[in-house]
Amino acid sequence: MSEFDFDLFVIGAGSGGVRAARMAAASGMRVAVAEDRYMGGTCVNVGCVPKKLFVYASSYREAFEDAQAYGWSGQTDAQFVWPTLRDNNAREITRLNGIYRNLLGNAGVHIIDGRARLTGRQQVSVGDVSYSAERILVATGGWPFVPDFPGSEHAITSNEVFSLEVFPRRVLVVGGGYIAVEFAGIFAGLGAETHLSYRRELFLRGFDNDIRRFVRDEMTKKQVNLRFNDDVKSIEKQADGSLKVHSADGSELEVDAVLYATGRKPNTRGLGLEKLGVVLHKDGTIGVDDNFRSSVTSIFALGDVTGGPELTPVALAEAMALVKHWQTGKTAEIDYNNIPTAVFCQPNIGTVGLTEEEARQSGVPVVIYKSDFRAMRHSVSGRDERTLMKLIVDDSNDRVVGAHMVGPDAGEIIQGIAVAMKAGATKSIFDQTIGIHPTAAEEFVTMRSPVAD
Ligand code: FAD
Ligand code: NDP
Repeated sequence: MSEFDFDLFVIGAGSGGVRAARMAAASGMRVAVAEDRYMGGTCVNVGCVPKKLFVYASSYREAFEDAQAYGWSGQTDAQFVWPTLRDNNAREITRLNGIYRNLLGNAGVHIIDGRARLTGRQQVSVGDVSYSAERILVATGGWPFVPDFPGSEHAITSNEVFSLEVFPRRVLVVGGGYIAVEFAGIFAGLGAETHLSYRRELFLRGFDNDIRRFVRDEMTKKQVNLRFNDDVKSIEKQADGSLKVHSADGSELEVDAVLYATGRKPNTRGLGLEKLGVVLHKDGTIGVDDNFRSSVTSIFALGDVTGGPELTPVALAEAMALVKHWQTGKTAEIDYNNIPTAVFCQPNIGTVGLTEEEARQSGVPVVIYKSDFRAMRHSVSGRDERTLMKLIVDDSNDRVVGAHMVGPDAGEIIQGIAVAMKAGATKSIFDQTIGIHPTAAEEFVTMRSPVAD
């Protein structure tokens, strides 16, 4: 009989925690998971899932408009009803919460509802109850960060945005990363007067520069008012409930909601990590080795709380690699290169591998292929929306080292390209691949002329 209540105690039933708990239980470990808010974590409740549903919702406006040229009439006065979207979304999430709870229960995982804290190197407390475990896995994710400034309490974050009482007619989104551009697209599509404020010259820092400029132009066409080099100084609540936003340059903007999307911080408050000697990085994320072990041998961590790429598939891959490591004793195998990602702004961004700037900086002799075109759908709809595709090729071995796209379903298309790149595909293999016609994706295998240097 083990001296511990559990072989593994997982804190947090999000993307990483649920996957680790289920896999560990399937391998015969006695597993408990504590969750204090919502089954499925950020992705299911206030992240990927509701966000994608809201993106779908926001795409209908243009679909109704474009349908006219295809012979459909009667949709021009379509009205958007916020409570319908909000409540249907909430219902779907409740359904998913139940599925996650069942998945864990059916796997034999002991579920504990409540906030956990570490009270010893092999000890966890939830409320008044204390549990011992041979190993503890911290998978507590992240939390939206809002800088401190006068009136910051009037700002909302991605945690609240899906359940607003009233749909804001005028919205300011602050930030220039994934969440900011995705929500600027959502609000604009749903019919709000939408402004996006970013502190530097051009948003989406870290993405390929051509992609960033292209998205800027496309978002502008969709009536998003982009305020670059803007520094919000304060937010003032007015008597009618609206918000007056003051910027450093003296300008003022009146809106009904201000959404801060200025990054996320690791969710470690009150966990008791420091007391136990768990070493944290400067930004508060938990330091772990290749096998997700913290500086305390019995305590492991993975997912957003460790500060890697903050993406659900990364947290899932880490969870699977960790349990496999426990099963086999071999070093966890996880390749952080060429992680594909999509930004669900409108049109979408899909990207994998090096940007042109990264490739040039790393000394790779690059050849660039680009295609900028109007998608077939819009030849008839007349919509002035364009698609961009770009390949970065290492000239020394013909390998495709980067693929980037802005356009409808970019994420769907780039996922396939990522497989090819993982397999080491060269440009010549792309060229030998026969296209699927008529699609946008076929452009990726028909780009023949490099861009002149
Ligand atoms: P989480 O999923 O955050 O889970 C952590 C869990 O731990 C939470 O349920 C929390 O309640 C619980 N918890 C925390 N502290 C305690 C405690 N002390 N006791 C008990 N429980 C605790 N990623 C994508 O790949 N694609 C997307 O399209 C995408 N969209 C996103 C959109 C938004 C608006 C946001 C915010 C994120 C999005 N992400 C997306 C990122 C993705 O959600 C995260 O990378 C992923 O959820 C991280 O998983 P995790 O297991 O590390 O943490
Ligand atoms: P990001 O890290 O993507 O972007 C944060 C943005 O906020 C940056 O533009 C940053 O500017 C700006 N910023 C940071 N601090 C301040 C400040 N004090 N004042 C003003 N601006 C500031 O974070 P998000 O919150 O957008 O998203 C968090 C993470 O969640 C993402 O990084 C991503 O990994 C994940 N996610 C993934 C999605 C997907 O896969 N589709 C969708 C949504 C989220 P600067 O560029 O100057 O640093």
